[in-house]
This record gives sequence, structure tokens and C-alpha cells, in this order.
Amino acid sequence: MHTLETLPFDNAFARLPPHFYTRLHPEPLPRPYLVAASAEVAGLIGLDPAELSRPEFTQFFAGNRPLPGSDPLAAVYSGHQFGVWAGQLGDGRAHLLGEVAGPAGGWEIQLKGAGQTPYSRFADGRAVLRSSIREYLCSEAMAGLGIPTTRALCVVGSSAPVRRETIETAAVVTRLAPSFIRFGSFEHWRVLRQMDELRQLADHVIERFRPECRAAANPYDALLRDVGRRTGELIAHWQAVGFMHGVMNTDNMSILGLTLDYGPFGFMDAFDAGHICNHSDDDGRYSYKSQPQIGHWNLYALGRALAPLIGDQAAVQAAIEESYAPAFEGHFMDLMRAKLGLAQALPGDEDFIGETFGVLQQNHPDYTQFFRQLGRLPGREDAAGRGATDAPVRDLFIDRAAADAWIVLWRARLGAEGRSDAERQAAMQAVNPKYVLRNWIAESAIRAARAGDYSEVTAVHDCLRHPFDEQPEYERFAAAPPDWAEGLAVSCSS
Ligand code: AMP
Ligand code: MG
Repeated sequence: MHTLETLPFDNAFARLPPHFYTRLHPEPLPRPYLVAASAEVAGLIGLDPAELSRPEFTQFFAGNRPLPGSDPLAAVYSGHQFGVWAGQLGDGRAHLLGEVAGPAGGWEIQLKGAGQTPYSRFADGRAVLRSSIREYLCSEAMAGLGIPTTRALCVVGSSAPVRRETIETAAVVTRLAPSFIRFGSFEHWRVLRQMDELRQLADHVIERFRPECRAAANPYDALLRDVGRRTGELIAHWQAVGFMHGVMNTDNMSILGLTLDYGPFGFMDAFDAGHICNHSDDDGRYSYKSQPQIGHWNLYALGRALAPLIGDQAAVQAAIEESYAPAFEGHFMDLMRAKLGLAQALPGDEDFIGETFGVLQQNHPDYTQFFRQLGRLPGREDAAGRGATDAPVRDLFIDRAAADAWIVLWRARLGAEGRSDAERQAAMQAVNPKYVLRNWIAESAIRAARAGDYSEVTAVHDCLRHPFDEQPEYERFAAAPPDWAEGLAVSCSS
């Protein structure tokens, strides 16, 4: 176990040539205080959980003191934002402290919100308490759901004012990932026509994270296929759990297939395929139903960037078409079958799952509750009648007849398999979360934190680490949005 002073820092990214980044120190935050910290994430880097309660912990992760052995830098990247080439971006408010080898691999440690960098453009380099709590909670909620994601170690707040739509206060969220390299990191060098740098970056990713690509006839083609497959699987996960990223710009797409850069994300409450979680996304480019296509679009942006290393455009196209869509479709079907309690893949499943989404779209039941409650229904209609056995699902529908008609189809499909109710119900509860980070839950934790009570952040965090377990003490977090949360809007402002 390490102390804060003995973390074994290394930084492979910093061994790339100097124009990949700028070395610089975080800007201190006045009067920092600890909002929340995760002992589990500390464990990923072998940090003794007792270190979390030292006053120095807050100082280090406010960016007020350099962690011994760290060598902070901000990385450059570019990207497409809302479908338009945005030119150079970069870590405008993120400082990569370095990499620490943990029991199960290396983790880069990054402070987000610790001051301006050469890539800040006109922005202040800060993050607000609200968005930092959202990133902290959602990173760990996604990890709890088994969805690939960056992780979050802690949130440190400060009384320093930060101007957004209103005046808010500053915070720093510390996040961890094997790498924060984005699609846009590759687009950057391609657009500058700096092919040596493009190759160095690709070689870095292959060497550090995807050594198996080395054996392929063209390692860069293999890398693009790997990214295509992982991105397809990631977005299948998002769709299945009802997660919307909100800003799927190419600079927010992880080369490792992780959920990256939590901003105006949302989890589906009442199902609506057209739902737009980002209030700033006027055209709905990143709506729930658009995410799979956008993943594909983003891979083409990455493919264009890697094309000089792969060869001709036909090879790039083949690499994307043979990886992304099959991975997305295969994984999505598997996840949806599991959510519906189906153990076998049978012909006609695609139609049935399509029909299920049609019924959800017509009736807008709460998405998370629908699947969770479905896991309580018996596989056969009880002699006592539908009212008794099927109430948990029927009650989510205004049109009870529509629910009944769908349940008949579902039971017919279940009947094609021989699983016992007990076995199927247990399997369904293990894949259909009871608790997701609904906007209203994040918002209530944020409101309490603003008033100086951080216990709600910790409660939400503890609950969402085990989203599939019944947790009677957290029953309140399983609820659909209360009336006060009716008009909650989340924008890009963070
Ligand atoms: P995002 O939309 O949050 O992914 O950010 C897009 C770009 O703007 C990235 O290069 C960020 O680093 C940068 N950025 C966002 N907010 C700030 C801020 N408050 N200060 C500096 N840079 C920022
Ligand atoms: Mg970003």
C-alpha cells in the first residue's frame, strides 16, 4: 500500500515528443475542502484508503501541492464538435499528473478543473461543483453497471467563484483511466499532416494497450478494428441501460472504448427514443436514438485520420464496417435478451425486441423500472389473473391493455425456453439495475452539497456502486423523477 508521498509515478505519455503536450502546474484553489473520495478507486492505484482522510489529500487533489513524482502536463488534441471540424482543442482544464502502476494495470491520474492551460482558448480552466459531482457520481455509477468508463477518485471543492449562467463555485474532480487519448488526438496530427506524430501516437496506443495488434499484417488496421469493436460494444451498453452521453464529439470519444468526459449526460426516465439530454443540443444530434449512428460517424472521422497509416480508403471502410456494426448489433441483442430474461438466441428475437421498443415508445413507462419490474413477473399468467401477477409492470402503463398485449407476447417467447421462474428472475435482477444516476438524484446531491452537506453525494455513490442489489436504505433512489424535478435541464455548461 502506498501513501500519497510514495505513489510510484511514471508517465509513458510524457515520453512522447514534447509537442504532444505542455508541461505545467495546476493553479492552486483557495480554501479547498473534500466533498467525496472513493476508497475503491484509491485501491486501483494501491493507495492506502487511510490516506483519503489526511488533510494533505485535499491539498494534493485540489492541485495546491505537487504530488511527489508527478510531472503534470496538458495534452493537445483536436476534434469534430456537433459534426463540424473545430480545429485545435486540448486539455483546456485538465492536468495529467502521470501514471501509477496498480495491482491490475497502470492508471493515468488527471485533475479536471485545476486551472488554465495553453489549450483553454477563451475559457477559465475551471470546473464547477455541480459538474464535478456529476462526473464523480456517474463515472462510478457506470463502473457499477459494468460499463467501460474512466473512474473518479475524488471531488475537492473551493469557495472560488466561477462564472457560468450564474455564479457558481469551483471544484476539481480527479479521474483515472489507462489513457485519456481520444479520436481527436489522432485527427489533430492528420489535419496538420504530421505523419510521424500520427504514427508515434498510434504506436504508443498499440504498445501500451493493444500489443496484440502488432501481430496483424497492418497493426493500424487492427487498431481501428479494435476501436470499432469496443466502441460498438460501448454504445450497445449505453442503449441497453438507457444512458445518453450528450456530447459525442470526436474529442470526447476514447480510443480505448471508455465512456469519457461526463457533461450533460442523462439516464432515461420515461422512455422516449427521441430524448435529448443536452439542453444545448438543439438539433438532437446526440439524442438517445442517434447515438449508434453517431458512433459510426465518429469512427469514420477516426478512420480518415488513420488512413495514411492503413492504406486506401477501401481498407478503412472495411475495417469500420466489419467491426463497429456487428459488435454493436451483436452486443445490443445479447444485452436486450438478457434484460428480457431470454437465455437463448432464437430467430425472431430482433422483431420481438423491436416490438418491445415500439411499445415502450407508445407508452413511455419508466425505462429502468420497466425492466426491473419485469423481472418480478412469473413466466405464466397466474390463476388469480393479470391484475394480481402483472401489476408491477401494468402499473407503469396508462394503457393497461397495451401492457397486457405485450406481456402475452413476452410470455410466449419465454415459453420457448425451459428456464424456471426462479432462475430467470434472478438472472434478470442481475442485469436490470434498480438504481441509475437519474438527473434528479444527481441534482438533489448537488443541492445538498451546495448547502454544505456532502453526505448525500456519498450516499448516492454508495448506492450506485451496487445498482443491481436491493438496498432498502436507498429505496428513495429507485424512484422516477419527483414533481420538483420536472423542468430540470442540463446544458454543456460545466
Ligand atoms: P467539452 O465540450 O467539455 O468536451 O470541452 C471541449 C473543449 O473545451 C475541451 O478542449 C475542453 O478542455 C475545453 N474546455 C471546456 N470547458 C473549459 C473551461 N472551463 N476552461 C478551459 N477549457 C475548457
Ligand atoms: Mg471533452
